[in-house]
Amino acid sequence: MSIASLSTVVLGNRFAHELPEMAVAWQAAEPPEPHLLALNDQLAAELGLDAQWLRTPQGVGLLTGTAVPAGATPVAQAYAGHQFGGFAPRLGDGRALLLGELPDGRDLHLKGSGRTPFARGGDGLAAVGPMLREYVISEAMHALGIPTTRSLAVVATGRTVHRETPLPGAVLARVAASHLRVGSFQYARATGDTGLLRRLADHAISRHHPSAAQADRPYLALFEAVVAAQAALVARWMLTGFVHGVMNTDNMTISGETIDYGPCAFMEAFDPATVYSSIDHGGRYAYGNQPVVAEWNLARLAEALLPLLHDEQEQAVELATQALGRYRPQYARAWSQGLLAKLGLLAEPGLLAEPGLLAEPGLLAEPGLPPETGKQPASALVDDLLPALQESRIDFTTFFRALAEAARGDIGPVRALSVDPAAMEDWVSRWLSLTPDADAMDRINPLYIPRNHLVEEALDAATAGDLGPFSRLVEVVREPFTRRDGLERYAAAAPPDFGAYRTFCGT
Ligand code: AMP
Ligand code: MG
Repeated sequence: MSIASLSTVVLGNRFAHELPEMAVAWQAAEPPEPHLLALNDQLAAELGLDAQWLRTPQGVGLLTGTAVPAGATPVAQAYAGHQFGGFAPRLGDGRALLLGELPDGRDLHLKGSGRTPFARGGDGLAAVGPMLREYVISEAMHALGIPTTRSLAVVATGRTVHRETPLPGAVLARVAASHLRVGSFQYARATGDTGLLRRLADHAISRHHPSAAQADRPYLALFEAVVAAQAALVARWMLTGFVHGVMNTDNMTISGETIDYGPCAFMEAFDPATVYSSIDHGGRYAYGNQPVVAEWNLARLAEALLPLLHDEQEQAVELATQALGRYRPQYARAWSQGLLAKLGLLAEPGLLAEPGLLAEPGLLAEPGLPPETGKQPASALVDDLLPALQESRIDFTTFFRALAEAARGDIGPVRALSVDPAAMEDWVSRWLSLTPDADAMDRINPLYIPRNHLVEEALDAATAGDLGPFSRLVEVVREPFTRRDGLERYAAAAPPDFGAYRTFCGT
């Protein structure tokens, strides 16, 4: 089905209707000179929206929030959040709007659409570069099979945004299972209104974890479902080298989708201490910290839910603590299985390896620990691999594709990556004795990711008016696993002069 005019677009207002205390009806600012920069034709088709119509002035009106269908109630959503560990009781959509829910239940949402009552000191705006950055990285994540919000379009506004320098402004239209965050629950809890908290939890159960409604303790089951979804999500990030960069509780979803692509980046040389965000001085959100930060955020969600878990606080805490205790084993299992799959030692990712194949893994294998005696070979192999990658500063993406070549008989590429080729050769021969499946590896280890230098190059060109490099990068990362001729530069690590890469938040 295609939609060819605004009058046939249907946007629900379920959030606004069910949770009015957390929704402020608001209008998008009128862009002086809107100009469509990127439109996701595939996603539009999936949503039953006619891409040709979205390119018309009225379609662009929908994508910037200035033309909304009758019956829609765009709102700024209220939420709280722990930012770098400090609690802010009132954050909310300072520069974003929920336009409404699409017929498939997902949110259509705008970022950069002007100041709202939550804007505090902010200008409510966004610049072209960061919005295109969210577009390309979220498309790459989706193609990699990692749950994420999607980008539907980026529209340049024709308005100048003042950051360190004047920049062209833009609005991003994105689609998400919902925009419910850990911070949404923290907000509801902080109001002291248990009725609101319960309505929010019911809303979340119905939209994201409907089986929880049938459980003996639905709100505990909701919490358990979020724990499981986040354990699985963060393991996927870790297995791909994705560094979110700003894992504040307002940037962690209840649905288990990745949200808010600010200072995020993909790690190149393997190093748990990798940080890209210019404001993350303490390395709180470093690559290797992400699993424990997610657990910390889930503990904040548990605190917010306590009044729904049991009438007696002590009992509620006991239940929450037990449920949170499942996070580490769930994460560790997803990580270990995922790593075995990347190594071609697990035919079907997600299937349980033979009992006893895996040792009790920590949240991250700790570099430098001597291997335990009596371990099965696959587990010992994994334990030895990460310190070796770190020591040689091996590109985390390149390594697994080079390794697949070794399984096909050419050890040259992987040997060349190591500072200690003899040790690498020894590791590879132990690995080969487990008969890895090279084709299975190539199906899950990407060749093309949005490498930082390619993203910067594409955004710089787009900011200067040339969308060519951006469009090509989007095309490449949409098919991350299939080698294509002529795309060698997209598979190569950054040139040495690219330097210590830094990303900027809130831009
Ligand atoms: P973020 O870092 O994008 O997750 O945003 C954190 C909070 O700051 C949210 O409440 C945003 O709505 C708000 N915010 C970020 N940038 C702006 C801006 N330019 N104008 C108004 N609010 C903003
Ligand atoms: Mg955010």
